[in-house]
Amino acid sequence: MLDILRRIIQDINAARDLNEALGVIVAEVKTAIHTDVCSVYMTDAVRGEHVLMATDGLRPGAVGKVRLKLGQGLVGLAASRAEPVNVDDAPAHPAFRYVAATGEAPFHGFIGVPIIRRRKVLGVLAAQQRERRKYTADEESFLVTLAAQLAGCINQAEIRQALDRLNGGDALADTLFLEGVASARGLAIGEAVVVFPATALDRVPDKDIENPEAEASRFRQAVAAELAELQRLSERMRLLLSAGDRALFDAYALLLGSDSLVNGTLERIYAGNWAPGALRATVLEYANIFTEMNDPYLRERAADILDLGQRLLNRLQEAQAINRRYPDHTILMGDEISVSQLLDVPPEQLKGLVSVRGTGASHVALLARGLGVPAVFGVSNLPPGRLNGREVVVDGYTVRVCIQPSPALRQEYLKLIADEAELSRDLQHLRDLPAETPDGHRLELHANSGLFADIAAARDSGVQGVGLYRSELHFFLRDRFPGEEEQTTLYSRVLRMMEPHPVVLRTLDIGGDKPLPYFPIEEQNPFLGWRGIRISLDQPDLFKTQLRAMLRAGTAHPNLSILLPMISGIGELSEALELLREAQAELAEDGVVVRTPRVGIMVEVPSAVYQIEKLIRMVDFASIGSNDLTQYLLAVDRNNDRVAKLYDSLNPVVLAAIRHVIDQARAAGRPISVCGEMAGDPVGALLVMAMGVDSLSMNLGSLLKIKWLIRSVPYSEAQTLLAEVTDLDSAAAIRDRANAFLEQHGLSGLLRVGK
Ligand code: PEP
Ligand code: MG
Repeated sequence: MLDILRRIIQDINAARDLNEALGVIVAEVKTAIHTDVCSVYMTDAVRGEHVLMATDGLRPGAVGKVRLKLGQGLVGLAASRAEPVNVDDAPAHPAFRYVAATGEAPFHGFIGVPIIRRRKVLGVLAAQQRERRKYTADEESFLVTLAAQLAGCINQAEIRQALDRLNGGDALADTLFLEGVASARGLAIGEAVVVFPATALDRVPDKDIENPEAEASRFRQAVAAELAELQRLSERMRLLLSAGDRALFDAYALLLGSDSLVNGTLERIYAGNWAPGALRATVLEYANIFTEMNDPYLRERAADILDLGQRLLNRLQEAQAINRRYPDHTILMGDEISVSQLLDVPPEQLKGLVSVRGTGASHVALLARGLGVPAVFGVSNLPPGRLNGREVVVDGYTVRVCIQPSPALRQEYLKLIADEAELSRDLQHLRDLPAETPDGHRLELHANSGLFADIAAARDSGVQGVGLYRSELHFFLRDRFPGEEEQTTLYSRVLRMMEPHPVVLRTLDIGGDKPLPYFPIEEQNPFLGWRGIRISLDQPDLFKTQLRAMLRAGTAHPNLSILLPMISGIGELSEALELLREAQAELAEDGVVVRTPRVGIMVEVPSAVYQIEKLIRMVDFASIGSNDLTQYLLAVDRNNDRVAKLYDSLNPVVLAAIRHVIDQARAAGRPISVCGEMAGDPVGALLVMAMGVDSLSMNLGSLLKIKWLIRSVPYSEAQTLLAEVTDLDSAAAIRDRANAFLEQHGLSGLLRVGK
């Protein structure tokens, strides 16, 4: 059965459209379970009917004509119960309905299995037998398994069909919205530019050529173009990467200038191989030489050579079209988008990002947020191959992508984008005003950061500090762990840029869904695994290098605070503090006298919530990581689209936990902030302000909006709202009530910023 199942699924996927796929299913299932009839009914929710869409065994003319009201007949029963109905004598069943058009009078055995996707019944897969027949348990589970697979295929096929309708200029075609799981907030409209992974270098075959001169010239052109490109990339990254990080590009340029790689390839070309094949052979040869070296640094250069070889190959094949011309409003789209693909688009032309895979915490996502580019990730049913050049709307607020919006919808989006730009302009006058409520309650607003570009922007937009510097971002942009010197330079620069405002440097928070490419971690359950401080404590060498670099940067810049991620217990915190003391003592032995920095913990694990009274007294401050706290309290993976609906930081339980932490921190006289996404969500910000949080740290894009909110709502009224929503049972109810409150305060312009 399993083999048959696999074959049917393959055949469905190979079908050109939904009708063909359904035709395949009914024919193959009929044979597989030796039955007289197999049919698929699809649910038409608008008309409230189940429509016969495909059959093998009933009269073909009945397809599209037989329509059963929802809940009618045995098909309706399977759908409404959302479970299989298996009866040996259908006409004897009270729910049986005779439908003449199907010509089904003579059938007795009946089995109907609902086709369900995400709680929605899409249709029913049914089989019938002329004689009485009770389908066996095996047959039933075969159909159930097939129906579950079918649900995904139907969804894909429907999307393909919707795209075809849009292609055909069908005026009545519905607008196609595709949902993602995570986003970078904002709205953008533009032209999809689809990027594909290039052919892997080691898969390139050899091929004989007749004109080596022409092939050599093609290769030389590729090398020259790549050199120019590296120069361009190095320039573009000036704002994003430190000089150390950019040194990678210089190293590539050196490699390209060296005789061995270029000449080695040319020799092979003149010997009769085509350029890609000659390149592959040369690059692999040199990479192998480096791989076998003893020096670990040189060994790692093998990866550079391979990467450079891949870039040259892309250029030769123009698969990646590195020097491609991007439209003025580029929406970058792909199965997975890499950091270099993102950085390849000139920043002023990059308007949005969409990817099939990837999550809100991937480093491309963090980069997109840092750069203020709206994005939607995890659009699992996106067919990038069919979208190049189409107009696309990226709606990072509703976490949706709209393909080829109708003229009316397009107008609506353009208006929203214009409104947003206008709102941002209008809010500029708040830049230098304090975040203070009309009745005199003041908060500090800080920026979340991780790149030079957003630090520069934060400094220029008058924020009062960086409340969360995600140090791991720099580790992602490199090809190995940065050393102490390099990190010291980096942190010094960050601290200097923000001086005299405070900067909270968070120690490495890798693991979970953020593994470093050069430090792979294979785990069954990464969010519950080796993550954040757990890695730092197990790898004291890495941790102390980072701490020493931070401390050294702090000698000249007193605005340093250090934040420890993922703290889940007292022992863990004691150990981390002990390592910090050791790092300090080691530096003193080396003659470097460092200041003792302010040290804080992230509260993002439930166990930290329930011992906050003790933890908070061991440190100087705490910051609530609502992103992780929400996922751990609700047991909802924040990147899993199947459970995304359950993930909401306004869940009453999450709010209660946050309130407890804020109360305890205040009782202990320690400053407390919120630095998760919730701080930039108007409703979230409003509620935690009412709870008495001291500061909020968020993406720069939300900052003035939240300042507007704070300056518009009296603290006492926010507290009344908090008291009112405390008894509500769901996040949705809380959001509705808070949205109404915002509207009453003339803040409806903020509402789109909500979840
Ligand atoms: C959080 O968990 O809320 C947080 C700010 O940390 P990160 O998103 O980097 O995990
Ligand atoms: Mg976190």
